Amino acid sequence: MNFSFELISLLRRTSKLVALTGAGVSQESGLRTFRDAQTGLWSQYKPEELASPEAFRRDPKLVWDWYAWRREAVKGVRPNPGHYALAEIEKRVPESILITQNVDGLHRMAGNQRLIELHGNIQRVRCADCCTYAETWGDDTESVPQCSACGGLLRPDVVWFGESLPRHQLEAAVEAARTCEVFFSIGTSGVVQPAASLAFAAHNRGAVVVEINAEPTPLTPKANYAFHGKSGEILPELVKAVWE
Ligand SMILES: [Zn+2]
Repeated sequence: MNFSFELISLLRRTSKLVALTGAGVSQESGLRTFRDAQTGLWSQYKPEELASPEAFRRDPKLVWDWYAWRREAVKGVRPNPGHYALAEIEKRVPESILITQNVDGLHRMAGNQRLIELHGNIQRVRCADCCTYAETWGDDTESVPQCSACGGLLRPDVVWFGESLPRHQLEAAVEAARTCEVFFSIGTSGVVQPAASLAFAAHNRGAVVVEINAEPTPLTPKANYAFHGKSGEILPELVKAVWE
């Protein structure tokens, strides 16, 4: 991969870099997308029928069990070289921020700490009523574990269909996009809102937009640099070209 001297020197001197990641980055770790992941017992359900507040009200145990199954599926998955390259960028660029639409926790596992998880994290669990986070919960398979503070049912800390994104995280993401110098859009189709609008917000404010994705997206015509291929190959090469 050939990176222009302009891009390399920009990355060397910038302190305001934002990267947005989507499902493509997790897929390269072998994690199947939300939709493709429905196998076995669960293949009879559509994700929309399980990942919603209505589904949880109707049958909390079914939804809890589905997430337990998904957490189990993530257990065997490891960050890929793209995740580690993003963790390296966080070390090199003092004010960089990583925004992800992925709920699998792989960026945290790779070492990123300045992280905005727009859609939550399936490894975290909170009370459906009072929002208190639970660090541990019983392995009682008969019923949905309850909140130790109020007795409400515990649920995964993810954004469900029909729910809005956590306001604080979304505001932080918009602010980061509007004030950055370089914006990376990685492994995301650029069509899921409001995440997709972040790249355009950065572009409108004069940031240099770099896209890394398997194929072109609606963002491609606006991107200053577009690389089509695997982020797990392109990002490590870029980190090497810039900082080694
Ligand atoms: Zn509670």
